Amino acid sequence: MKKTVAFSKNAANVFFHILTKCNLACRHCYINPAQHGRQTLPLETIKAWLQPFIADGQKANVIFLGGEPTLHPDLAPAIRHARKLGYASVTVDTNGYLFHDILEKVTPEEVDFFSFSLDGATAGTNDRLRGDGCWQRCTRGIRKAVDRGFATSLIYTVSRANASELESMPALLEQLGVQRFFIQVIGLRGRSAGGGMEDTAGESPQLTQDEWLDLVPPVAHRVADLGITVTYPKVFLEKQDPFECAGLVADNYFIFPNGRVYRCPLCEDFPVHSLTLADDRLVPTGPLNEQDFFGLQIPEGCVMNRMIQPENIGYAPDGTPAARVACCLLKEEIQPH
Ligand code: SF4
Ligand code: SF4
Repeated sequence: MKKTVAFSKNAANVFFHILTKCNLACRHCYINPAQHGRQTLPLETIKAWLQPFIADGQKANVIFLGGEPTLHPDLAPAIRHARKLGYASVTVDTNGYLFHDILEKVTPEEVDFFSFSLDGATAGTNDRLRGDGCWQRCTRGIRKAVDRGFATSLIYTVSRANASELESMPALLEQLGVQRFFIQVIGLRGRSAGGGMEDTAGESPQLTQDEWLDLVPPVAHRVADLGITVTYPKVFLEKQDPFECAGLVADNYFIFPNGRVYRCPLCEDFPVHSLTLADDRLVPTGPLNEQDFFGLQIPEGCVMNRMIQPENIGYAPDGTPAARVACCLLKEEIQPH
């Protein structure tokens, strides 16, 4: 059954970048050290920064990210501390190299999902984007996690460079034993904004509306038919769909090791974070910040999309946008029957 997932209003989702260091240098990496810092947060800081989001008995989920979070030597105690604080779920997003024998140090009861990033059904395509040997290491990591009883998900970031292989993913996902599949749209942030995807013959690495709609929903349905839950961004709103900005109606926090806390991932390349962690307390920043954009109503839908990646909006001859672009956090979910 397909449904649009309304923004979660009853739980905070905490996307916690505990370091920006990574062993890979993916061509579309959105980490931007000039904006996000180069620190590896000490365990005590991670513990202190987890606290404000779970205060007053509020429900919260945490996703540990990097850089590569398994490069952090204290990821396991950080996970256990999140559990102790009462986080409802703990996810680790990884490139699959699983450093510091992380699978030996935590249990399936402590980690709800290990979420692996893979950007091709074959080593050729994935490794062109993510680096030599990466496909093999990542698929091996998934198999190992599945063998040890961990729930796993796979994130595939669709761009012009790997769209042709999305159709081969259902068979691979089934073979690997993955439970959830997340399809992402490539954002023009970090290295992809700086030309990291330049061999796409001058074209935007993002698919057009027609290309996206022809490709992604049918593949998502095929994956769901295999018993795997699929989530993908809505991207384009239909006429009857209301537009909502998650920055106004949801409780998402994107934390970086330099203390910046954003409410909108599209803002992460700019110093417009609306919150900051200072002396281990969450405090609002002054104007001008991302909050000042969230309430702006424009015919194109998402304001930040219009500002930073306007090329994904088509216009009719009279100048009206062909479609409104949804909040990047609005998702379609297909549950297996
Ligand atoms: S996209 Fe992820 S795995 Fe790739 S370089 Fe960036 S942080 Fe590392
Ligand atoms: S992506 Fe657009 S709509 Fe979503 S939170 Fe950011 S500014 Fe708001």
